[in-house]
Amino acid sequence: MTLIFSGIMIHVSTIDWYGRSVSVIFFNGCNFKCFYCSNNDFIKVANQRLEPLFKGGSAVEIKEIEKQILDSKPFISAVVFSGGEPTTHPVELEHLARFSKENGLLVGIETNGYYSDLLKRLIEGRLLDKIFLDIKAPLDDADKYFMITGIKDAAEHVRRSLELKVPIEVRTTVFRSIADVAGIARSLKGMDCTYVIQQGIPENAPDPEIRKEKALTRDELAEFAMSVSFLKDVRIRTREKGEEKII
Ligand code: SF4
Repeated sequence: MTLIFSGIMIHVSTIDWYGRSVSVIFFNGCNFKCFYCSNNDFIKVANQRLEPLFKGGSAVEIKEIEKQILDSKPFISAVVFSGGEPTTHPVELEHLARFSKENGLLVGIETNGYYSDLLKRLIEGRLLDKIFLDIKAPLDDADKYFMITGIKDAAEHVRRSLELKVPIEVRTTVFRSIADVAGIARSLKGMDCTYVIQQGIPENAPDPEIRKEKALTRDELAEFAMSVSFLKDVRIRTREKGEEKII
């Protein structure tokens, strides 16, 4: 069977896995419909950027991505699968994760956490070393999770991903109108994970109300981080200063 990859690849990134230089492979498409999704535009741009590579199409045989991983190997120690939502391409994701591991690279996945069974299978198959889990609302507030993502049982699925036995970095993207950091942090109490509060970029959001907002500042994000000092490792990520460890 010929596997087709749909998305883009960034050959070297130092911002997706703290302390590592990685290749990032972005899969097109997502099962959530978050009203502030900043990847919306990115995915459109990504498709345009693909055109020369994919000769006018938006997809390529997976062997081409394998070749690009090998070309990048001298400069990286890991591959991060992102999106969109990479777990919506389970066969291609597992294939590329196996290829990366066979070539001595660590594997991370940036995910919304909905497909916890797939993540579990990858962990059990030793194909996954780290999860970067995007948590969007308190996990005990199913209605709020639904309001943000458009998916009814999202909170329950994400909770199962949070319980997986693998190093996890939890991330939340915050805007002025959606910033329940304290509620989300409650779900993480007692866990051995990193929590990263990311600055949302209003101008990239599809929702017109969010686009009217001003981005939260670096200092406002630092205040959020200080307010959840009961967690072990809290960081903020901003356009101004990149990633900073606050707690
Ligand atoms: S899970 Fe991520 S990629 Fe998917 S819609 Fe939400 S913000 Fe966008």
